[in-house]
Amino acid sequence: MSKVFFSNSGAEANECAIKIARKYAAEKKGEDCNVIVTLKNSFHGRTLTTLAATGQDHYHELYQPLTPGFIHVDAYNIFELEALGAKHKIAAIMIECIQGEGGVNELKKSFVNEVAEYAEKRDILLIADEVQTGNGRTGKLYSYMNYGITPDIVTTAKGLAGGLPLGATLMNEKLQDVLTFGDHGSTFGGNPVCCSAAISVLDRLDDDLMDAVNAKSKYVFDELSGATGIKSVSGMGLMIGFETVKPAAQVVSECLEKGVLCLTAKNKVRLLPALNIPMDLLAQAIEVIKSVCADCQ
Ligand SMILES: *Cc1c(COP(=O)(O)O)cnc(C)c1O
Repeated sequence: MSKVFFSNSGAEANECAIKIARKYAAEKKGEDCNVIVTLKNSFHGRTLTTLAATGQDHYHELYQPLTPGFIHVDAYNIFELEALGAKHKIAAIMIECIQGEGGVNELKKSFVNEVAEYAEKRDILLIADEVQTGNGRTGKLYSYMNYGITPDIVTTAKGLAGGLPLGATLMNEKLQDVLTFGDHGSTFGGNPVCCSAAISVLDRLDDDLMDAVNAKSKYVFDELSGATGIKSVSGMGLMIGFETVKPAAQVVSECLEKGVLCLTAKNKVRLLPALNIPMDLLAQAIEVIKSVCADCQ
């Protein structure tokens, strides 16, 4: 990547990516080339434009009208994308390689590669939303690195500054001069406090930490797969979802009572522990989760 624009959140990082894509396409292919394709079940943020990008109808209710120009396609069907491409002028395709809020669904390698190839052939920009999956979460610096693709734009936030608000929109050489002075900005973007935190995080994201993330991931997968009351386990690295016999929300609240913080994602329970969680703490948490899930008679 050649350049980065700093903002304060994931939604803002995606807004910036969408602006770059629309401006690039407008200048190169005409202003009617403005459609951004995203996937069904995706999550891209809570501003009106990133809500429009989000492929889940229930987030859209009551906030109409949203920003136009977004189309959502099936995450497992390349033909739907090809059919759309014949009808619409597509500026960019934005994907999460592992859908977070959508239920910790890791996309198939074949689909992601087909999308990347489709986009590259037509000079459609590929945007990887790495807001949740970035910064070592999946066992690589960014989740797209598990897929062997090269996006034109990468957005990230969440873990980047270890809990302080920082968003980043990274762009490749082709896009580095698209936004010019005055096109985009942020009062607090790139502030020294949050950037210091991010430097500290990035300094620690080395091979040793990634090896530890992958080892902990294997431990959690091994412990949860086939455990009583757990129906399936999905995800990558330390971004893990599992389906339970009990309703996910009940598992989350019972775990909370016992001091373990989980989340839901659709019908699954979702785990996003700190990447540097000590092994003994992780094991303790997994014991609590397993006992809560097993108690389902
Ligand atoms: C959380 C999230 C966002 C939005 O980030 P905020 O910092 O809450 O605005 C966007 N995309 C994905 C994939 C996310 O998980």
